[in-house]
Amino acid sequence: MADITIRGLTKVYPGGVRALDALDLDVAEGEFFALLGPSGCGKTTLLRTIAGLETATDGTIRLAGSDVTRLPPGRRDVGMVFQDYALFPHINVLDNIAYPLRVKRAARADRYRRAKDAAGLLGLLGLDGRRPAELSGGQQQRVALARALVAEPRIFLLDEPLSNLDARLRLEARTQLKRLQLHLGVTTVFVTHDQAEALALADRIAVMEAGRIRQLGTPVEVFRRPANLFVAAFIGSTPMNLLPGTVRDASVTVAGARLPVPDDVRGEIPDGTDVVCGVRPEYLDFSEVPADPAGGAFGGTVSVIEHLGGSSLVTLDGEGGPVRVVVAEGSEPEPGTEGWAVPRPGRVLLYRDG
Ligand code: ADP
Ligand code: MG
Repeated sequence: MADITIRGLTKVYPGGVRALDALDLDVAEGEFFALLGPSGCGKTTLLRTIAGLETATDGTIRLAGSDVTRLPPGRRDVGMVFQDYALFPHINVLDNIAYPLRVKRAARADRYRRAKDAAGLLGLLGLDGRRPAELSGGQQQRVALARALVAEPRIFLLDEPLSNLDARLRLEARTQLKRLQLHLGVTTVFVTHDQAEALALADRIAVMEAGRIRQLGTPVEVFRRPANLFVAAFIGSTPMNLLPGTVRDASVTVAGARLPVPDDVRGEIPDGTDVVCGVRPEYLDFSEVPADPAGGAFGGTVSVIEHLGGSSLVTLDGEGGPVRVVVAEGSEPEPGTEGWAVPRPGRVLLYRDG
């Protein structure tokens, strides 16, 4: 049974912004689930509506089978971490962590013991007497996590918990968060606008745009086979090559090359259809040996080489525009070299969604 079941969820704010648009979603028990999308696509609204901090305009939310759509936050058994952590500035770390237990009217000794346990889990022992202003950003973030966990909620909701940390700390905190979720096994919905973070952490990802889900899948699925141009452009540290072409006789003419139409869509696309060909720089190989363009390779002149650390991004200026290829460190061609970008089998995708 799904732990979170959302059907037809719509949120229209006063003033008329439709932040969620008839959204359906199932999150499995114990899953680490990422909501990914650009700023303003409705991620925070979805999380706050699951938590009960916003009321749904329409649709239903079930947690562990029971309908909570109209229940107040305190009766939903969720723990939430806010993007700005929202710690109470005037009380110390331990009292901050213990706060949800106070709301639940747990006995004082019990509150203290459980808050200590949560502080220990997040490596905060020794800091429990400090106020939030006396902590680093990373420590504040861990206090927010401990406070969300202390009441052992059934569901853990995290709104961009790593976005206020600097780049190096963010990577460390990311690994720590994954370790914690694996250890606790708690169903987690994690909001981020950072595609690399979602790919690294999540069991599954929902890519959102304008209050809707544009693709839902595992990190490997959304990386290898983006379902539409929006997802294709959004996912990937190096942007996917997206090249306009035209279908004719079971092949696509694109960027001066002729590529076979991929098996899964062969016969479905009529001759003369304009398409966009998508191929990731990671799925192209650079070759100086002349390749037959009829065999499906993009020819051009090497113009720019960018070091990525461990590999390099090579830009080939060709007939149909620039094509980018990732090459291993040490095998970069010289600028000015004529060469070919050869797609690996099965890695060229066709889009008709414009
Ligand atoms: P995200 O978290 O993906 O950046 P949000 O859920 O915060 O997106 O916002 C989704 C949309 O709803 C945006 O257009 C935003 O301006 C609007 N919005 C968010 N909160 C409110 C609010 N309290 N009142 C009115 N509009 C809001
Ligand atoms: Mg947000």
